[in-house]
Amino acid sequence: MSLSYNHNEISKIEGHLNGPLFQNALKNLEEAAALIDCDKNVLERLKKPRKCVTVSVPVRMDDYSVKVFTGYRVQYNATLGPYKGGIRYHQNVDLPEVVGLAALMTFKNSVLGLPLGGAKGGVCVDPNLLSRTEKQNLTRRYTSEIGSFIGPTKDIPAPDVGTDPQTMAWMMDTYSQEYGGFSQAGVVTGKPVEIGGSLGRNHATGLGVIFVTEKAFEHCHIPFNGARIVIQGFGNVGSFAALFAHQRGAKIIAVSDVNGGIHNGDGFNIPELLEYVKTHKTVKDFPKSQPISNEALLELDCEALLPCALEGQIDLHNAEKIKAKVIVEGANGPISNPATKVLTKRGIFIAPDVVANGGGVIVSYFEWVQDIMSFFWDESEIDNRLKTIITKAFDNVVKFKLEKNCDMRSAAMAVSVKRLEKAMLLRGLYPR
Ligand code: GLU
Repeated sequence: MSLSYNHNEISKIEGHLNGPLFQNALKNLEEAAALIDCDKNVLERLKKPRKCVTVSVPVRMDDYSVKVFTGYRVQYNATLGPYKGGIRYHQNVDLPEVVGLAALMTFKNSVLGLPLGGAKGGVCVDPNLLSRTEKQNLTRRYTSEIGSFIGPTKDIPAPDVGTDPQTMAWMMDTYSQEYGGFSQAGVVTGKPVEIGGSLGRNHATGLGVIFVTEKAFEHCHIPFNGARIVIQGFGNVGSFAALFAHQRGAKIIAVSDVNGGIHNGDGFNIPELLEYVKTHKTVKDFPKSQPISNEALLELDCEALLPCALEGQIDLHNAEKIKAKVIVEGANGPISNPATKVLTKRGIFIAPDVVANGGGVIVSYFEWVQDIMSFFWDESEIDNRLKTIITKAFDNVVKFKLEKNCDMRSAAMAVSVKRLEKAMLLRGLYPR
């Protein structure tokens, strides 16, 4: 029997590269590579993930039955430093999505100037259907299964959609128990502060989104005070973005979560909304608000739209209907490549994900450094350093955009790929 493959079989084998998020990232990558005349061999290498790990995660459920979930860790590129990127628990997680998210982490860490590679992990599970014990069992077994691939100098996970500081505490404990029995805080970031977490990590992505919104408004000559802001998603990113925007005098006129959206043209009292969400677990039915559909929320007239939920929210079906003046991508991959072109042509300014939501991984980097030093900074030092790094990345991208007269996403990708290209050429190809 012949062992050679025909083309069809190869595309089946490479099905993990066929997800829409990754295909979009590849389009963005190719356009950016053309802008900087990127080395062809480097580009070929950047188009593929280095390692994809798939694991089965058997979990003892509360009724004593066993359910087997599927988990992933994709290590995309480690040229600039150890692999780094979050862990997602969501019912739609699959390998193609994780590959796309791992690629985005690579480009994000590069454009931000961090000494980190890119990775991402996830488990296909709806975490809302698990009890606390079941979540702990799942997290510990998943960590054990990917244990030999991660480590404080190798690959450092963090929270993402569906995971939180408690999840990181279980991951850190499992890894520490299995690899030496001593505390290895640096294996994950986004931990609670009591066990080596960093002050300011929990609000970092939301704060970074607002630092970038301020920069985008400045660039577009829009005053922050009184600006109408719409936020899709009210999890870790959207809720803190709402709070920091509110504190700076903006009017948050619409927000949403998985259960629905709410609208109030006069702007919400965000501290009151946060209190409401603590007890009701959703923004839905908040007093003095009208319900609004996800589609209508995205199309509201406003100064800034902040998509802070999942990928694939704005594509050619709604790009013409968006009325925001500025879009700041709090989520990873919320706008498709063709939609970016339509929006840019319509004069809408996009602050791309790899910069806009970089606050999380920037403070993850600070957490990792603090764990290595075992010396911890205060919160204002962390917030200030976050602002320095994220605004510098934004300025670099705007400078490139103005020089080349391209859209913001291509500019961000070009700055990112340029740095990766230099490093990859310096390191060369192993063995040669
Ligand atoms: N999951 C976050 C992201 O998408 C944070 C990753 C990290 O801190 O490593 O950027």
